[in-house]
Amino acid sequence: MDGRFDVKRLAVLDGSSGRPLLVLDRGAIGQRLSLGGRRGSEAASLGASQFGVVFLHVGLDPGARIPATLIHEIDGFAEPLKTDLSMQIAETPVIDEPLPVLAAPLRGGGYVAGDGCCDSIRHVRALLPLNGAFRLAQRFAIDWERIDGENRIVRGDLKDVRSYRIYGEPVLAVADGAVVGARDDLPDQVPGALPPNLPIAEADGNFVVIDIGGGAFVLYAHLRPGRVRVRVGERVRRGEPIGEVGNSGNSQAPHLHLHVMDHASGLLANGLPYVFESYTISASDEAGTADFDRAEATGSPLTLTPRSPPLAVRHALPLDLSVVDWGSSP
Ligand SMILES: [Zn+2]
Repeated sequence: MDGRFDVKRLAVLDGSSGRPLLVLDRGAIGQRLSLGGRRGSEAASLGASQFGVVFLHVGLDPGARIPATLIHEIDGFAEPLKTDLSMQIAETPVIDEPLPVLAAPLRGGGYVAGDGCCDSIRHVRALLPLNGAFRLAQRFAIDWERIDGENRIVRGDLKDVRSYRIYGEPVLAVADGAVVGARDDLPDQVPGALPPNLPIAEADGNFVVIDIGGGAFVLYAHLRPGRVRVRVGERVRRGEPIGEVGNSGNSQAPHLHLHVMDHASGLLANGLPYVFESYTISASDEAGTADFDRAEATGSPLTLTPRSPPLAVRHALPLDLSVVDWGSSP
């Protein structure tokens, strides 16, 4: 193809020392370079006039010095020039500020952190072109599901929202704050499929947005109709019930979508990282998103790997498909 650029290697370097922090080969790039920024269109080759977005997560060892800046080094083959090129581009400052510390959004145990960080793609790569700019509000979002004692998300009639373990669970304010968005008039969807032709303004279904200060806003989405207990302008206290888990909006099974963002709109915002104050991890689904989807669609148990003893965690974000116990304290 004329004009093609094949990306062969991508490295993330510490901007001051030049030390590589992350190196991707062509195979890994092909899993992470989304053509046009479109989720699910990943490839390692760009055509003429095409752009792509590479989704990267750079991990550091505990206690390691955090670089002040990152530099991106790209090696590839430029087909029009018939030559290899190497470029150092996109020097990026690293923001190293305290993160919002959230209380539990739900009560009790057996909550599965669905579509969480980092290599699941439905939230992490949900880049949306809106009003002339790309925004990634959901990059640290989690879809919370709940399992029963047999590791099932749903038992009984798959088309009935009440069959899902999490349906109707109280949803709690994760921090003190002011309610800046709320809606509770949309119906629950029939589980099993995403609703067709849903207006984008109804994607979150019934929702609450809380301004928790410091430029951070918390979105709770897909809440149960008629059960949102707060209104715009009210103040909420950490731990206070604000609604119930439902299946409204762009949702195919009852769950709580929660994320933190830099504006009050669930769409016209970028996602912010956050941590929960404390929780316990009792298991995880090492079989990945496909296993989670199967369990949700069929009512069969999740394939869980128990963690014995459970891992007590403070000030962290649960990774994808961790099974979280919030304990009894609010
Ligand atoms: Zn979600």
